Amino acid sequence: MIAAAATNNKRIARCGCGALTATATGEPVTVYCCSCINCQRKGGSAFSYAALFPNAAVAIAGEHKRWRHTGDSGRWIETMFCPICGTTIAFRAEGFQDLTGIPVGCFADPDFPPPLELYWASRRHRWLTFHGDLTLHDTQDG
Ligand SMILES: [Zn+2]
Ligand SMILES: [Zn+2]
Repeated sequence: MIAAAATNNKRIARCGCGALTATATGEPVTVYCCSCINCQRKGGSAFSYAALFPNAAVAIAGEHKRWRHTGDSGRWIETMFCPICGTTIAFRAEGFQDLTGIPVGCFADPDFPPPLELYWASRRHRWLTFHGDLTLHDTQDG
């Protein structure tokens, strides 16, 4: 058997209790961070860190609940989360309906590709600075 091509690389994201997984095949379309207020509240952290994959590249397995709300952009976001431990394992958004987002921390992979953008940099915590080639956008569209 030959090694799988890089584009068939499978990564598994798991919730905190392990009952819910999202398996992503291939490389992410983009990886980004977001400091909007919704992301801060939802994750309890200074910013979210997520990878977007084509919908067809993501397989979600396990019982989950959905929560749809309006983001700082004014468009809807729908999260899929574990009803046992509450971890968000995936999300979809009005702004990119062909893509599924997965919070990168759920992969527990220190070698995951780094983020390229920080959205809502205008709302980031004052102490927060970044190294590398991260592009800062004041809002979601900038
Ligand atoms: Zn769980
Ligand atoms: Zn956000």
